Amino acid sequence: MDIQYCLRCSRELAAGQKYAAVYMFSQTVGIKPRQKSSAQRICFCPQCSVSLAMGPPPEGALNLAAWQMIRDLVGSDPALTEAAWENLSGVAGLLPGSVLAPTGTDSRRAAPGGYFEF
Ligand SMILES: [Zn+2]
Repeated sequence: MDIQYCLRCSRELAAGQKYAAVYMFSQTVGIKPRQKSSAQRICFCPQCSVSLAMGPPPEGALNLAAWQMIRDLVGSDPALTEAAWENLSGVAGLLPGSVLAPTGTDSRRAAPGGYFEF
């Protein structure tokens, strides 16, 4: 089983951990034979999912589509938000200002403003 990393904060998402995934693949339409790309899985840890969902819309059509899907997940059930708080309990106090700030050790890789980077 391969290890996943949060796209936004680079946190490692081990097997059994809670996170949100955006799946994306591409295929031709109206062309035979139909071509289909491999599927990509883009993962976000619970904190980043909630932070993104509560933030302003990102720029770019693909980013916007992904953002709306994350908002759907966060808005439809409190489980993801609860998972974010569970994870935060271990690092409380390290986050002056906003509890939803990126918390990864390598948060410098996050885009300015912290939005999707495809
Ligand atoms: Zn993250």
